[in-house]
Amino acid sequence: MKIRAQVGMVMNLDKCIGCHTCSVTCKQVWTNRPGTEYVWFNDVETKPGLGYPRRWEDNDHWRGGWELDKKGRLRLKAGGRVKKLLSIFSNPNLPQIDDYYEPWTYDYEKLITAPLSAHDPVARARSQLTGKALQEIRWGPNWDDNLAGAPERIHEDPLTRGIEEQVKATYEQAFMFHLPRICEHCLNPSCVASCPSGAMYKREEDGIVLVDQAKCRGWRFCVSGCPYKKVYFNHQTGKAEKCTLCYPRIEVVLPTICSETCVGRIRHIGLVLYDVDRVEAAASVPDPRDLLAAQRQVFLDPLDAGVCEQAARDGVPADWIDAARRSPVYALAHRYRVALPLHPEYRTLPMVWYVPPLSPIVNSLESDGYEADPDDVFGAIDHLRIPVDYLANLLAAGDSEVIRDVLRRLAAMRGHMRKREVLGEHDLQGTCGLDFEGGPGNCGMVGGGRESQSEAGAEGFMLTDQPAQLDIVQMLGDQRRSDEGAR
Ligand code: SF4
Ligand code: SF4
Repeated sequence: MKIRAQVGMVMNLDKCIGCHTCSVTCKQVWTNRPGTEYVWFNDVETKPGLGYPRRWEDNDHWRGGWELDKKGRLRLKAGGRVKKLLSIFSNPNLPQIDDYYEPWTYDYEKLITAPLSAHDPVARARSQLTGKALQEIRWGPNWDDNLAGAPERIHEDPLTRGIEEQVKATYEQAFMFHLPRICEHCLNPSCVASCPSGAMYKREEDGIVLVDQAKCRGWRFCVSGCPYKKVYFNHQTGKAEKCTLCYPRIEVVLPTICSETCVGRIRHIGLVLYDVDRVEAAASVPDPRDLLAAQRQVFLDPLDAGVCEQAARDGVPADWIDAARRSPVYALAHRYRVALPLHPEYRTLPMVWYVPPLSPIVNSLESDGYEADPDDVFGAIDHLRIPVDYLANLLAAGDSEVIRDVLRRLAAMRGHMRKREVLGEHDLQGTCGLDFEGGPGNCGMVGGGRESQSEAGAEGFMLTDQPAQLDIVQMLGDQRRSDEGAR
C-alpha cells in the first residue's frame, strides 16, 4: 500500500442556479489572454444539452479515456504509440474550433465614437480569431443555456441514447439542470498517458494534473485523450493548457476561484487519502457499473489509525492527514454516499464528484399534493421530472439503482430537515429514513418542539457514524415489492 493525498471537489447540483459566475471569475483569472479566447477551464452546461465542446460525451466519436482490451487490460481508447505516431500530424479525434465556438467580441468603440445620426449605432460582433465582422453567431460555450435550442437539438445529447421516450422535449414535460464542469484531476488520467512529450503530469503531493509548458510540443493528444475535453490548445503559444485547480491558491490555503465565488455555494473542496497501488485494478474492473464501488475502495479511511501511520510514513504531512479527516469530499462521496463521479465509465477515476439534483422530486410531489415524506418520495422516484435513467447515464454508468439509492437518501434528509426546521417537528428515533448503511443513523432528539431543541438539538443532528437501527429503505422496498406482487 502506498498512500497519497488528492485534492477533490464535490458539487451539489441541486444548488447550482446556472449563474455562470464561476466561469466568468475563472476566465478573468486564468484564460483572459490571447490564444485562450475560446477556452473555459470552468464551464456550466445545461442538461439536457450538447455541452462544450459540442457532444463531448460521445466518446465513441472522440475516442477519449480508457477501455479494456481483449485480455481485460487497460488501454487508451484512441490507441497506443504506433497509432499515435501514424496520426501525429493529423489527429482525427481532435475537436475543431467550430465544436467549441468561434470566440467573438463587439465593436464597442463604434458606440462611443459614432457621429450623431437618425439611427442608434450598432455594436457588431467581431471574431476574436480573425478580427472580421461575424455575419451570424452560430454557437457559443453555453448555447443550450436554459434549454435554448431544445427541442431541435435535445435528441443529439448522447445521454438521451436509449431513453428517448422518457426524455420528452415538449414544453410540459421538459426538465433541465445545470452541470458545472472543471478538469476532474483524475486518479488515472488519460491525458497524462496520451502525451508523447511527457509534458502532462500529476503532482505527487496533491494529485493536481498540470501541463509543463516548457516540455509541451503542442501535439494535442492530451486534448483528444481527455474524455471530458478539459485540455485546450492555446493557438498563440502552441501549447496545451488546462484547469490548474488554482494550485497557487490551494498552496496558500485558499479555495479555488470557482469555489470562492460560487453564488449557490455548491462546491466543497477537500482531501482524500487513497492507495496508489489499487488505482490500476480499480480502473480495470470488467463491468463499468462496478467502477463506482471500485473507486470508493481506492479511498482510505482517514479515521483509521493504521492508514494515518502509513500515510505519515509515505510522506503525507500531519496537517494534511488532519484535513483528510475533516474532508467534506470523503464524507459526501464515501461515508454518506450521496456524491457520484461524472461518467465513471471513462475509467479515469475522476475526482470531481456530484450530488445529483433532487429539487424536482419535491416540487413534483408537492404539486401532486404529497408532503415531503420519505415514504411518498420513495414511491414516486420513478415518476419524477428528471428521469432517473438520464442521471444514471451521467453519473453511474447507466446503473439507475445507484441514482435511486442516492435520491432516497437526499429525499429522506430533506424531508427530515424540513419537518424539523420548518414545522418544528421531530422524527422518532429510527423513523426518518436516514439510518441505512452509509446514512447518519441518527434522527436527532426525540420529541419536543423547536424551543426544546436548544443548541444541543442543533448539534444533535450532526452526521454521525452510529450503526443502523432500522433499515427503513429495505423495509419500504420489501413492502413495495409485496404490494406489486399482490397487484
Ligand atoms: Fe486529464 Fe483532467 Fe481530462 Fe482527467 S479530466 S483526463 S485529469 S484533463
Ligand atoms: Fe452554479 Fe455556483 Fe457556477 Fe453559479 S457560480 S453557475 S451557482 S457553480
